[in-house]
Amino acid sequence: MPTYIVLLGPPGAGKGTQAQILAKSTNLAHVSSGDLFRENLKNQTELGKLAKSFMDKGELVPDDVTIKMIRDRISRPDCEAGAILDGFPRTPAQATALERMLLDFKGEVNLVPYITAAENILVERASGRWTCRAHGHIYHEKFNPPKQAGVCDVDGSEVYQRDDDKVETVAKRIRVYLEQTMPLVDYYRKAGKLAEIDGTQAVEQVTKQMLAALKK
Ligand code: AMP
Repeated sequence: MPTYIVLLGPPGAGKGTQAQILAKSTNLAHVSSGDLFRENLKNQTELGKLAKSFMDKGELVPDDVTIKMIRDRISRPDCEAGAILDGFPRTPAQATALERMLLDFKGEVNLVPYITAAENILVERASGRWTCRAHGHIYHEKFNPPKQAGVCDVDGSEVYQRDDDKVETVAKRIRVYLEQTMPLVDYYRKAGKLAEIDGTQAVEQVTKQMLAALKK
C-alpha cells in the first residue's frame, strides 16, 4: 500500500524544508502545490498565470484547479509508493477530494505532521526566506544562508526572494491560513492522524520527531 504524508502548518513553519528532508530519507516523492504553481508560472502556462493572480495577493488558488493539478501529479509513476504532500490540502474541500482520489490509488492519508510556530516567528522566517530557481531548495538569509551568497548549494542556480514572501503578503497568508486551513487541524486530529510538532525547534529535532511519528 502506498504511503501518503500530509504536512500541515502555517506559512513559515518549515513544511517545505522538512518535506525536502523527509522525501530524501523515505524515498517518497515530494509534492509541493506551491512549487507546482511556481513551475507552471515559469513555463508561462495558463494555470501558472491564473495561479499568480491569487498567489501575489496571498490568497488561495481556487479548489478545482488545485485539486486537478495534484491529482495529475500524484498519478505519475514516481508517486507509486506514495508522496509527501506539502501545502495540499489547504481547505476542507481539498481534504475531501484528496481522500477520494487516494482511494483510486488504494491508499489513504497515513500521517499528518502538524508543524506549529508563533506568528512573529512565522513572519521572520517566511520574510527572510530565499528559494532556489531550479528546484525550490530553501534558505534563510540569517538562519541558513547558502555558502555562496545568491547561489544554491545543491544545484548552483540563483536563489531569490519569492514575491509572496514580502512581509505584507506573509501576514495576509497567515490570515488566510487561520481562516481556511485551520479547520483541517481538527479534521485530522479527530481522524487520529495528527502528530503535533513544535516548529520552533532546530530543523534536525523537528525531523527526528516526524520520523518517530512515522515509525509508530
Ligand atoms: P506555498 O509555496 O505552499 O507557500 O504556496 C504559495 C502560494 O501558492 C499560496 O499562498 C497559494 O496562493 C498557492 N497555493 C499553494 N498550495 C495551495 C493549495 N493547496 N490551495 C490553494 N492555493 C495554494
